[in-house]
Amino acid sequence: MARPSHVRDSVRALLESSDRHDWSIEDLQAGVLETGLSADYSSVFRAVNWLERRGVIDEVALGDSRVRYELAGRHHDHVRCDECGTVSSLPDCLLERAEGRVEKGTGFAVTGHRLLFSGLCPACR
Ligand SMILES: [Zn+2]
Ligand SMILES: [Zn+2]
Repeated sequence: MARPSHVRDSVRALLESSDRHDWSIEDLQAGVLETGLSADYSSVFRAVNWLERRGVIDEVALGDSRVRYELAGRHHDHVRCDECGTVSSLPDCLLERAEGRVEKGTGFAVTGHRLLFSGLCPACR
């Protein structure tokens, strides 16, 4: 079994090598195995948690029960295709100004939001 630091490096390299927004643990494990490292689900799961705690990767909420991840970076929101599941990012955040209204209306200190549009991607529409 590969060392934890090697699994973490491999997971990180995978995320950095693509602009996908919807990596599941299973996808990451498959990618790690392709590089020739032996890593079971739980070692990939631990690597993902380690990277998330350090702010290297972010969890992405896509409206289903599976947890997905992407490389952490500038905040952006997502749109997902109802037909094929392709996920893209929006160029600008539409909700930055709404956060002020949420704070005014609720007294909460807003720390973030999750917004997901759905529709048909250019290939499916
Ligand atoms: Zn994203
Ligand atoms: Zn946003």
